[in-house]
Amino acid sequence: MRNVTDLFGENVFNESVMKARLPKDTFKQVQAAIHNGKRLDPSAAAVVANAIKDWAIEKGATHYTHWFQPMTGITAEKHDSFISPASDGRVIMEFSGKELIQGEPDASSFPSGGLRATFEARGYTAWDPTSFAFIKDGVLCIPTAFCSYGGEALDKKTPLLRSMEAINKQAVRVLKLFGNEDVTSVKTTVGPEQEYFLVDKEMYDKRKDLIYTGRTLFGAKPPKGQELDDHYFGVIKPRVQAFMNDLNEELWKLGILAKTEHNEVAPAQHELAPIFTTTNIAADHNQLTMEVMQKVAKKHGLVCLLHEKPFNGVNGSGKHNNWSISTNTGVNLLEPGETPYENAQFLLFLCAVIKAVDDYQDLLRISVASAGNDHRLGANEAPPAIVSMFIGSELSEVLQAIENDTPYGAKEKELLRVGVHVLPKIPKDSTDRNRTSPFAFTGNKFEFRMLGSANSISGCNTVLNTAVAEELKQFADELENAADFDSALHNLVKRVIVEHQHVIFNGNGYDSAWVDEAEKRGLLNLKTTPDALPYFIHQKNIDLFTSHKVFTEVEIRSRYEINLESYCKVVNIEALTMVDMAHKDLLPAISAYIEKLSTVAAGKKAMGADIDCSYEAETAKELSKLSADAYKALKKLEEKLSESEKIDDMQKLSVFVKDEIITTMDELRAAIDKEETLTSAEYWPYPTYGELLFGVR
Ligand code: ADP
Ligand code: MG
Repeated sequence: MRNVTDLFGENVFNESVMKARLPKDTFKQVQAAIHNGKRLDPSAAAVVANAIKDWAIEKGATHYTHWFQPMTGITAEKHDSFISPASDGRVIMEFSGKELIQGEPDASSFPSGGLRATFEARGYTAWDPTSFAFIKDGVLCIPTAFCSYGGEALDKKTPLLRSMEAINKQAVRVLKLFGNEDVTSVKTTVGPEQEYFLVDKEMYDKRKDLIYTGRTLFGAKPPKGQELDDHYFGVIKPRVQAFMNDLNEELWKLGILAKTEHNEVAPAQHELAPIFTTTNIAADHNQLTMEVMQKVAKKHGLVCLLHEKPFNGVNGSGKHNNWSISTNTGVNLLEPGETPYENAQFLLFLCAVIKAVDDYQDLLRISVASAGNDHRLGANEAPPAIVSMFIGSELSEVLQAIENDTPYGAKEKELLRVGVHVLPKIPKDSTDRNRTSPFAFTGNKFEFRMLGSANSISGCNTVLNTAVAEELKQFADELENAADFDSALHNLVKRVIVEHQHVIFNGNGYDSAWVDEAEKRGLLNLKTTPDALPYFIHQKNIDLFTSHKVFTEVEIRSRYEINLESYCKVVNIEALTMVDMAHKDLLPAISAYIEKLSTVAAGKKAMGADIDCSYEAETAKELSKLSADAYKALKKLEEKLSESEKIDDMQKLSVFVKDEIITTMDELRAAIDKEETLTSAEYWPYPTYGELLFGVR
């Protein structure tokens, strides 16, 4: 491999390339746009566009695209070449400032939840200068936000950027109260750990369920799964290692800080973690990472599955969103400090997160809700659908001492006063003992673990940023008017602890007793997407987003519709795929095997009464019974599917899908999976779980 420091970021038009290629004053203007949100004037944009074009052409690019993140959850791009006709019949390569800053993709086919009337099909894309342009497969990609002509957000980036602005504004207010006059801006940072499965491409190509839905809809448990825990951190197989090496190289070229790679718990499951960066860039990079993973896998004869639950019975894949807040002066606000004031500030930010998670548990749950993730939350090794937070025993004791006006620790005599006393040292590595919490404090950041592997991280970070912004706003409002800052601060921290500590749970989140306990505490347990989504349009949530200008009410309602619709569509595709597989491949294959068994049984019978044909006869009989069950479920599923077509109301449809269609799919699967265990491998039409999970060597 080439030297990593040479290849890192070679396909990115980053600040050092800009510095080298832009006139000094233009570079200064771009820096102001990146760091202070200043608008770039048209003449400077033209200079930047020309420099980007020259750089991209030198790198072999012929096209450019405004790269954006519509509500589909994946990225979108439409390529335009740089060519422009010259008078002599030849072409020149051109790229204008306007083409850099704004695009007008025909957006009529992206989900808009009714935001864009069909006669106004155009949307527009606007350059996000804080996320660098890059080259991917010979195309210059310009990260952009995507809006309707009325200015409504049609994508995942726009609200994320707005939420970063909201938390910036409120956090700076709070920091001023602590005398941080040098802080001019605050950013949230994210490091998303990404899990995925790798399966052999030849086997993948034989499974309609993987091709159409990304997960297996049938499949009996193999004799061995993950019970020996022999895959986690195990030696990486050569074929997988070759994939990872290639993947790292591709990601590094794109300036993505790929750092850690290892085998995960389930067979064929792996993880990649980058070094954290600013949230909107982390979101762009995570989308790119998922895309590059799939591309590189193909080169190695593999397919990368990003579905949250590709296989029943083994772990699903998640994504851990490590989130923190830091200042432009380089201070991580979720890191306990050395002085009483630093610690008081830390405690206040900690309280903002505690209160935010409690007040907006519904929104956090919604931000990870999808048909795919419904199979995972609450299942094997995934956090439950209940949002609670872990802060570790040391911090819990500190909060208790403040709540009860008692000394902290055995040796201390004085009562713990916020803003007066130094917090005891909180050992960083002791804070991450709990792997079962959906929202865990890990020393200097919070790790939100409910995301499914395929989720865009924009949604949960939009919620987190906005919810914490709201709490910081309330705190600033209260403290700015306080006569005595220290005692007002102490009382505020104490009040938040008393009122919101029910969301803190340091025990085992996988324990069934926690479900009862959480109910007693009044925490929400929104088990499925249709259970969770209606909370999105509750007044308190509309108020939150509109008051911080993250979403308008119209945008919220459109997103609600889009999410409901996408849930229903995903399950509908899965149900239709099951029907197709059962009718065309599975039941016919089983019938053929029954015929074979019957023929042998008849032949044996003809040999005389002393020949035992019970294996063939009984297996044929049992399979016949199971096929009858499967067929019954299949007919029922088809009926439910046509019934569902008559339901117009999206919310009602989502409940019907959950209660009627998914349960019938489960019945069909149960019968067929049982049949798989009785059918000759020679007759089974699809690669088995054993082959898929252990097939990559
Ligand atoms: P582990 O979870 O394996 O102990 P780390 O705690 O070092 O590893 O980091 C896990 C992820 O959290 C990494 O992606 C890392 O970059 C990210 N991370 C570390 N510090 C921060 C921070 N201040 N803000 C956001 N993410 C962070
Ligand atoms: Mg982790």
